[in-house]
Amino acid sequence: MIPLSDLDRRLFRAAHHRIDSAPPTYRSRRPPAPCRLLRFRVAAGFLLLALAPGSAIDGEPFPEAAPDRSLKAAVEGSRWGEAVRIFSTIRKPAPEDLYLAGVAHLRLHQPERAREELLRGKELGFSGWDGWPGAEALLRRIATVEEVLPPVRPEEGRSADSAIAVHAGPPTPWSGPVLQAVPEFAAVGRRIFGTDLPRVRLVLFAERQPYERFHAAMFGVPVPTAWHDGTGNINIVVFCEKDRQEKQSRRAGEPETIGNVLHEFGHAWLASYLMDRHGKEWLDPALRRPWLDEGLADYAASLREPTYLERRKAWIEREKVAKAVAPPSYQTLNGYREFYEEGDVDTHYWLSALLVAELLGDAKGGPALIPRILDQLARSGDHEATVRSITGKDPQKEFERLTRRLWKSPR
Ligand SMILES: [Zn+2]
Repeated sequence: MIPLSDLDRRLFRAAHHRIDSAPPTYRSRRPPAPCRLLRFRVAAGFLLLALAPGSAIDGEPFPEAAPDRSLKAAVEGSRWGEAVRIFSTIRKPAPEDLYLAGVAHLRLHQPERAREELLRGKELGFSGWDGWPGAEALLRRIATVEEVLPPVRPEEGRSADSAIAVHAGPPTPWSGPVLQAVPEFAAVGRRIFGTDLPRVRLVLFAERQPYERFHAAMFGVPVPTAWHDGTGNINIVVFCEKDRQEKQSRRAGEPETIGNVLHEFGHAWLASYLMDRHGKEWLDPALRRPWLDEGLADYAASLREPTYLERRKAWIEREKVAKAVAPPSYQTLNGYREFYEEGDVDTHYWLSALLVAELLGDAKGGPALIPRILDQLARSGDHEATVRSITGKDPQKEFERLTRRLWKSPR
């Protein structure tokens, strides 16, 4: 192993913090529109009206139709997938229903659908309740997304799995190797989810400015830091090859760089599957444990490149154990603040990767356990019990064994 240079270390730390700082920040600290919606749930509740009577022309909007109560409840509960399913069954969508479907599709990162619905709702005279994001503002965001979204690359679409749609400009020395790896990413997704692999759009930016505009418009929040370069969320992975200083934040063509993109696919698949199958937000603090989320995303990356895990083990030994960095507690890996903002964040990531690999086992049986974990977790909300029952191993005990082994403590 080549030792990490200072530059590598700095980049590595920045990369890891930045890559994942977006979704939790966006949920827990700077809630975008639909989180704010929840705050207005009570105020808006009086607007709930009777269900629409059910005799009508399919799909035609009716200005006089009553809004669908269950659709509004789904949107207020952040159950975006359920919301669009309900909407698809409404035979006489009221203007309010069209607006709500637009909000839900935008939260599913499907702006094309959202645009159509928001426009139809607006034409029929509804643009949002007080305290809700206005249709105009949402449509402006969508127009920005459409303006900067790179074109679909049909060649990747043809050669790869249809579960990944690629948007990118002409290949660059950085994006070329990533684009080449897309079929392998899809193969990893199939190993985990089989025919249930959620469809994800990969959006690659060669330039920083359109990336920042896209991020703010698509997610409703700006890129959190000058060096944040990618994220994975429901139905989408976004990456930019440059930081705000126009420097390449990860080296072109390196296995670690390609693995980091696949890591974001891991996040995107987890979030999409949970929403699609169970109507749950993976980033909801009640459901998400950082070690499990990050560890599963790294496990996905390791299925394409097993040395991805070996690097993490070597880094812990060389950069942490040898330099007397103390191991974190298991509790540290369970809290958002403790994981991402306190102590040695690198160690938190690397240990999570090794812990999940211990729990799931090798590539033979491990991948298929992931959807089973998600299914059971969505039903029970109990992480420890879920992981124990699916893997037969206790996460805390495995964590303690792992840290003892790495830190070679006589405990
Ligand atoms: Zn991550």
